[in-house]
Amino acid sequence: TRAYLDAIEAARPLNAYVLETPEIALARAAESDARIATGEAGALEGLPLGVKDLFCTEGVRTTACSRILGDFTPPYESFVTQKMRDAGAVMLGKLNNDEFAMGSSNETSAFGAPVNPWRRSGSDAPLVAGGSSGGSSAAVAARIALGATATDTGGSIRQPAAFTGTVGIKPTYGRCSRWGIVAFASSLDQAGPIARDVRDAAILLGAMAGHDPRDSTSADREVPDFEAAVGRSVKGLRIGLPKEYRVDGMPAEIEALWEQGAAWLRAAGAEVVEVSLQHTKYALPAYYIVAPAEASSNLARYDGVRYGARVPGRDITEMYENTRAAGFGPEVRRRIMIGSYVLSAGYYDAYYVRAQKVRTLIKRDFETVFAGGVDAILTPATPSAAFGVGEMANASPVEMYLNDVFTVTVNMAGLPGVAVPAGKSADGLPLALQLIGRPFDEETLFSTAAVIE
Ligand code: GLN
Repeated sequence: TRAYLDAIEAARPLNAYVLETPEIALARAAESDARIATGEAGALEGLPLGVKDLFCTEGVRTTACSRILGDFTPPYESFVTQKMRDAGAVMLGKLNNDEFAMGSSNETSAFGAPVNPWRRSGSDAPLVAGGSSGGSSAAVAARIALGATATDTGGSIRQPAAFTGTVGIKPTYGRCSRWGIVAFASSLDQAGPIARDVRDAAILLGAMAGHDPRDSTSADREVPDFEAAVGRSVKGLRIGLPKEYRVDGMPAEIEALWEQGAAWLRAAGAEVVEVSLQHTKYALPAYYIVAPAEASSNLARYDGVRYGARVPGRDITEMYENTRAAGFGPEVRRRIMIGSYVLSAGYYDAYYVRAQKVRTLIKRDFETVFAGGVDAILTPATPSAAFGVGEMANASPVEMYLNDVFTVTVNMAGLPGVAVPAGKSADGLPLALQLIGRPFDEETLFSTAAVIE
């Protein structure tokens, strides 16, 4: 823990942490030492980990990297971080993320963007660490956290992992409790780990998952021994390559990476088959209706009364307006406006209900493929390697949303997905593949991802 705290201090220019908690870390490390001495060590005993600032941490400032939460200090701990703490984890601090987890580069954070520890060969230009869990991915890649919690509503675990050469898994919807995690789009949000390798990710997920009666969508299912799945043979498994993921303009190096991943799985004894997920092209537009709709509802609670910051006004309505105008950044305001629009009378059926129907079709596409005997689906994780900080500043929001083209389908269908490093771009940056599994079959993802990493 001391070594990590020193490393965090030395790596402050990366802007991965928005709050360092060295006193808490050292106190918990001492408790861990005591438990290890008495032979009571938990599964994560003494492991120095970072926590995305979207997870409520008891007595420790939690802001979702939004000005509107100000110095909000929750009196409770999220279910997931409590479970990790019970397993002996040591919290090093709170990690940067896009404001309310809305973004793909972590540049919407009120604290500014974290910096990816990777550089293009021959260039010093700082690159983004992905988003929204860019603090988590930067910290793990820079070795200033052994692992980190993250959340994924439309790719926010997998895309940052892909950009930093780390492993990120979004488990099946319901595998991890959402209780105590700042809500973005409740029907899509899931917690999961970002870790250095597949085994670490399996160990972390095992400690994060589990049933929680305080989240009505939490699944009452046994948590398997995920670590045991790492290294398990993939012989005889059927891996599907969805032809619709061969999107227009896919760079040749991403295409080659995908083929390489398929070849490795084939060499390990898996059978690789082409599959079709017909409605893939509608996933991104439908996601950018469903997610803002839910966000506009979830973010209504930030009214200057209950949490964090308040900007006074002549009456209560003006106080709401002043607080929300000052507290929310531009991307969050955009989502609230889109969400309110698609839910409004007259547009609800045309947009929101339609998007929900598309969502059902996307889910059915996956069900059909899995019912046909496919065990996991292999795709690229992102359409490109990490891009430069500020590079997308003048691009349209839709260009930023295109980062999520391979990841949002998984959230729409509630399935588990893992991003695993698989190679390098021509300019030396990490590139990743994604494996998508059947509901609650994260084990197959761990065993197949271990073949690729
Ligand atoms: N980039 C996506 C968005 O901005 C995904 C975010 C997430 O998964 N939290 O909505």
